[in-house]
Amino acid sequence: MSRVICQTCFRPQKACICHLVQVVENSASVRIIQHCKEVTQAKGTAKLAELCLSRCEIEVINPETQFWQLATNQVVLFPADNAIDVEKWWQQVQVAERNSPTVDGDKRNKVAVFHEPSIVLLDGTWRQANQLLRACRNLQNVQFIRLCPTIIDEKASNLRDLSSISPASKKNSQVHTTEPATGYARLRKAKRTDSLSTIQAIAACLISSKIDKNAGLELIKIFERFVDFQLRFRPQ
Ligand SMILES: [Zn+2]
Repeated sequence: MSRVICQTCFRPQKACICHLVQVVENSASVRIIQHCKEVTQAKGTAKLAELCLSRCEIEVINPETQFWQLATNQVVLFPADNAIDVEKWWQQVQVAERNSPTVDGDKRNKVAVFHEPSIVLLDGTWRQANQLLRACRNLQNVQFIRLCPTIIDEKASNLRDLSSISPASKKNSQVHTTEPATGYARLRKAKRTDSLSTIQAIAACLISSKIDKNAGLELIKIFERFVDFQLRFRPQ
C-alpha cells in the first residue's frame, strides 16, 4: 500500500507539518540551496521555513550533476575563514543603503549587494554543504556571513532559552562558529549536535542582526512545536 503524501509539505499524511505553519513576514529574503539527499529527511526544517516565511525559496541541487549561481544581492551563511558576523554585515547594508545613489548606473551595481539583501543557506550535513559550495559557479566574490556565538548568547537569549540549550553540549560546540547545541540535538543526535537546524539558523540570523527580530522569534516558536511534534514519532 502506498503512503499518502501531503502535497504541501511533501511528508506522509500522518507526519504532515502543515498544522505547524504560520506565516511570518520577513524583509530580507531567504534562499535555501538544499542538497538532494536532504529532501527526504524527516527531521529537516527547510520546508517548514519555506512554508512559514513570506520570502523564502528552496532550490534542490545534486552537486554531482548540477550547478547553481549566486545573485549579486546574495550573501552566504557559512563559517568560511573570511566570513564576517551577520550583525556587521547588516550594519554595512544599512550604511550602504543610506549612501546609495538614487539613479541607476555603475555606482548602483557596485552596491547591488546592499539592495534587497538576500541570505543564502546551504541545507545538508557539513560535508554536503561543502559539496554545494563547490557546485556554485560564481563563488569568487561572494560575501560569507556567520553567526557569532557571543552575539547569540548576549542578544538572543530568547533563542537560547526557547531551544533548551544544554550546558554540557554547549561546551563541545567549538567545531563550527555558528552554533551552540540546541533543542535540535534532541532530534538529530550524532554529528550535528553542534549545529542549528536550517530554520534555527535563519531565526538566529534574523534575530542576532536585528534584520527581522520578531520574525526570527516567531520561527523559534514554530521550531519548538516542530521538535515536539517530531518526538512523537520516536520509538520509546
Ligand atoms: Zn502537509
